[in-house]
Amino acid sequence: MADKNEKICIIGGGPAGLSAGMYLEKKGYENYTILERNDHVGGKCNSPHYNGRRYEMGAIMGVPSYYAVHDVEEFCGITHDGPQLNRNYKDRNGNVIEPFEPKKNIMKIPRLLKMKNQVKKFGELLETKYKGYDINGHRGVSEGRYDGYAVTPERARVTGENPNLKDLALPFNKFCEMNGVELVQDIWIGPFTAFGYGYFDEIPAAYVLKYLDFQTTMNFVKCNLWTWKEGTQWIWEQLNDHLKNHARLSSDISKVERKDGKVYVTVNGQVEEYDKIIVTSPLQFIPDYFDATAEEKELFSKIDYERYDVLAVETKPEDHPDISYYVFDNMTPERYGHLMVYYRRWRDTKDQVITTYALRNHQNKKEIAYEDCKKTVLEDLKTMKNPASAVVNENSWYYFPHVDSETYASGWYEKVEGMQGTNGTYYAGEVMAFGDMDETAEYSRELVERFF
Ligand SMILES: Cc1cc2nc3c(=O)[nH]c(=O)nc-3n(C[C@H](O)[C@H](O)[C@H](O)COP(=O)(O)OP(=O)(O)OC[C@H]3O[C@@H](n4cnc5c(N)ncnc54)[C@H](O)[C@@H]3O)c2cc1C
Repeated sequence: MADKNEKICIIGGGPAGLSAGMYLEKKGYENYTILERNDHVGGKCNSPHYNGRRYEMGAIMGVPSYYAVHDVEEFCGITHDGPQLNRNYKDRNGNVIEPFEPKKNIMKIPRLLKMKNQVKKFGELLETKYKGYDINGHRGVSEGRYDGYAVTPERARVTGENPNLKDLALPFNKFCEMNGVELVQDIWIGPFTAFGYGYFDEIPAAYVLKYLDFQTTMNFVKCNLWTWKEGTQWIWEQLNDHLKNHARLSSDISKVERKDGKVYVTVNGQVEEYDKIIVTSPLQFIPDYFDATAEEKELFSKIDYERYDVLAVETKPEDHPDISYYVFDNMTPERYGHLMVYYRRWRDTKDQVITTYALRNHQNKKEIAYEDCKKTVLEDLKTMKNPASAVVNENSWYYFPHVDSETYASGWYEKVEGMQGTNGTYYAGEVMAFGDMDETAEYSRELVERFF
């Protein structure tokens, strides 16, 4: 019988930690404490103010299948009320192109037609050969099983055997090649690589497809997307306001010790006693302040992450882009460090910033220095004929923690999932599912469902 009075510590006040609090509360647990290091909640949902409006330095959008985010909206009585997203495409020289418009792209028709057929084939393969591919989390995948909750409004629990799922450990480009659908990468690359999640020759297909399941990808294609007027940070600020226990901000955790069935957390110099702890902060760094076991150290040392750089820039009104642009040429590993996308959030005015996005690492390449990448991006903006007049904000994010194909195939997730609950410790947050708002919140939901 679950003890609903147990004291639960949650590390991190981002989407994963705050939604863990919400789902615990919904289940009758009220004795939880969320410890957040920053002086604000939201984590990578970061929406600063500029000229009376909020822009996005972190997360931007959702899709209609963001069921956990929808739970949060319902809990808070809010909705996705932000500006409509629109986009266009440019080549690396700044010329507007129309890669998906056959009528105006005669030379490319055969490729486009082939791609269209492959997309259809891919959709069918995912439903049949890869049944179970899209459920949240990675439990059992490397062993050819699925076990989790379906990505449908009902979120029914589904389990089963499917040896083909082992293929999901392959890098996405290999996965597509072996299934004869290599051209679908043209569609998947925009919301994947341009959104900072790495290159298809290095990232296991499991991550690509759990985030960009078929339905989600089609929503991106059709621009059927959600945004929030006050920014994505606002979603989590609202949640924090509506929780019985608000996150404790500016919490500096120097030590976590697990002994005698309890968890002792040293916060701002004071030791606090808990029964259980849910970690949503980056697992890679917990050996720095946890009494980490040899297994935790070994497994979490395998986590890699992306260096995803965002600049918020002002432009002169006459240089302001008319819309957001994707630069496909710059999404290949050969062009890492270049501008991949720039986002104009507010289209009714020219006195708002635009934000730029670039990746400066690749598994097999030397990391580009931050300042060099920034210089390249500013040069690229000139080439795009939308030069920046000033940089008003910048950030290089610890982004999309994940493991590589070999580690994935060797059962990393089975091992970490097998440790859930040991020493009163539970692992959640990005690496356990995927680095987006909904996958992390959904994982927290499942964690609470499974263990509390
Ligand atoms: C540029 C960018 C664009 C993005 N675009 C989208 C998008 O369009 N749609 C989408 O769904 N997602 C998007 N994301 C991803 C999304 O923001 C993240 O996946 C999501 O915020 C992850 O939630 P989380 O709670 O697991 O981690 P985080 O958001 O990183 O939150 C973790 C929290 O833990 C805190 N913390 C860390 N260490 C400690 C510690 N030792 N003690 C206490 N607290 C600690 C951090 O301060 C942070 O608040 C984007 C992110 C970025 C950066």
